[in-house]
Amino acid sequence: MKGYNKMDAVARTSRRALALMAAAGLVCAAAFGGEAATVPSTVCQRATCPVKVDGVLDEEVWRLAKPLSPMRDLEGGRSEFGADIKMVYDDKFLYISATLPENTLRATLTKRDSVIYHDDDFEVFIDPGATGRNYLELEINQLNTVWDLFLTAPYGRPFSEALHDWDIKGLRTAVTLQGTLNDGEGDDTSWTVEIAWPWESITGHSSLPRKGAPPPPGTVMRMNFSRVDHVDGVEHNTVWAPTRRKTIHAPEHWGRVRISVNPVGTPERPTPTIGLWVHGNDASITAQTVAAWADAGVTTLIIDGSPEGIARVSKLGKAAGMYTVVWFWTLCRPGDSEALAHPQWYATSALGKSCYDPKDRPFVSYYQFLCPSNPEVREHLKRKALEIAAIPEVDALQMDYIRMPDVVLPKALWPKYGLDMSKILPQYDFCYCDGCKARFGREPKASDADWTEWRLDSVAQAANFVADAVRAKGKPCGAAVFPTPRISAEMVRQDWSRFKLDFAFPMDYARFYEEGSDWILSCISEARKAIDGNFPIFPGLYLPHFKPSELEAILPRVLDANPEGFCLFAHDGLTPERLAALRLARFRKP
Ligand SMILES: [Zn+2]
Repeated sequence: MKGYNKMDAVARTSRRALALMAAAGLVCAAAFGGEAATVPSTVCQRATCPVKVDGVLDEEVWRLAKPLSPMRDLEGGRSEFGADIKMVYDDKFLYISATLPENTLRATLTKRDSVIYHDDDFEVFIDPGATGRNYLELEINQLNTVWDLFLTAPYGRPFSEALHDWDIKGLRTAVTLQGTLNDGEGDDTSWTVEIAWPWESITGHSSLPRKGAPPPPGTVMRMNFSRVDHVDGVEHNTVWAPTRRKTIHAPEHWGRVRISVNPVGTPERPTPTIGLWVHGNDASITAQTVAAWADAGVTTLIIDGSPEGIARVSKLGKAAGMYTVVWFWTLCRPGDSEALAHPQWYATSALGKSCYDPKDRPFVSYYQFLCPSNPEVREHLKRKALEIAAIPEVDALQMDYIRMPDVVLPKALWPKYGLDMSKILPQYDFCYCDGCKARFGREPKASDADWTEWRLDSVAQAANFVADAVRAKGKPCGAAVFPTPRISAEMVRQDWSRFKLDFAFPMDYARFYEEGSDWILSCISEARKAIDGNFPIFPGLYLPHFKPSELEAILPRVLDANPEGFCLFAHDGLTPERLAALRLARFRKP
């Protein structure tokens, strides 16, 4: 488990960062369930030895497997009945064991597909594709008599049909009794069930890939377990996942079972933070879209757009249990009418051209950069940042464009602008405004190292000024930054090792630098060293640069190098194919 050691990650993470991660972690749990408070979840790990289905739980795997959380009544209250339930799997079977305390062993039904719950019983429900539409059910009594059936829709709802003739082909079950059946003595202690349920019948009845084999690691199935007890003519239902209604037939409330790649008994990798940059004005984003992202492992939405768009998508994110970060344009403020009323606020090049002037802006017309050292600019940015941070559904703020215009563009972009940027070009070197010159105290020269340092500091001070204000309002503040502090200092006057952040999203968009996957990993390593654990980083990948198979290959390597997580840019690049790759990649070893 090298690279996934939780203590190791924790030790290198500052207290402030921990607060964020704790918040994100809580949300991770919520994102995993979507209804963390009510839906239990578990991880089903791989069996490491053969399981003999004899009702005797003497295999090592049953000692190593973690029991499910305690059973409750259907409404979620305490129940006097319980069961110790465990699961493991191998290539052929999902194995389930249950030990059910019982002081009066009693059973009469011996014919397969009898209505088994007329006896006291143990029941298993599986919705393999977690669709909430159709599912498999198995009931078993103390005589090891089985009722297996397929529900075409949740029982009691339209189009629901129970296919009683349907059989789980290859099913193996065994029951042992700790006491004497039907002696009415009340001195029994328990009964034990052991089940081997062939994957053939589980994945064969769902949209899951790999029919007949276990679902891919990372797959989440919805399941529930139930025991039915009859006491003085009253039927008691005790379940793993309370449905908060009078029936267990509500698969949308069942527990979540994630199929793990790991052998039983090994620690699971901590759930990483997975961020997705989202254009909040995209009206096609619905609750279903966001739920699909959450299901594939996205824990955090980083949202840009109009205040209305941000609020709308943040709400969808919160409803799916996600952490929401709003994306704030900091020193580059296209169309900021308040700023445009102050021409002197704008950054100025070494040639004296101002970003205020539409004719003189570098590269693109939206490069409307403000001067980082101007106190009025800093106050303005603080006000704007606080307006956005005040949106109730927003958990944190991400500063974007907290830098100067590109002194050096990524190499792949040089031809686009017909430039050779191997030397600093004065028309792309900012901020030589009168205010900066006065505050620096002498006539600046491009070759003067102090002048470069001073400008790096002025950008860092602007960043910290805004971040402190946001934090003072109780919300964490981070930044989207260039790949490493060294690279970003050289390219955009942004030495983010000087920033006091709660997190950073380095944009490791390799292909713009004519680089590949190894470069991404070396940037991660360099950035982690440079910030020395002061805050967590979540490296950003540019989705259109990756075929789904490439994404599936790189993400486990990124997590190995940076267990805290990663980010993806942007939601419109998260095609169904890339979403499927993400779902698989999260739990894969590099
Ligand atoms: Zn300036």
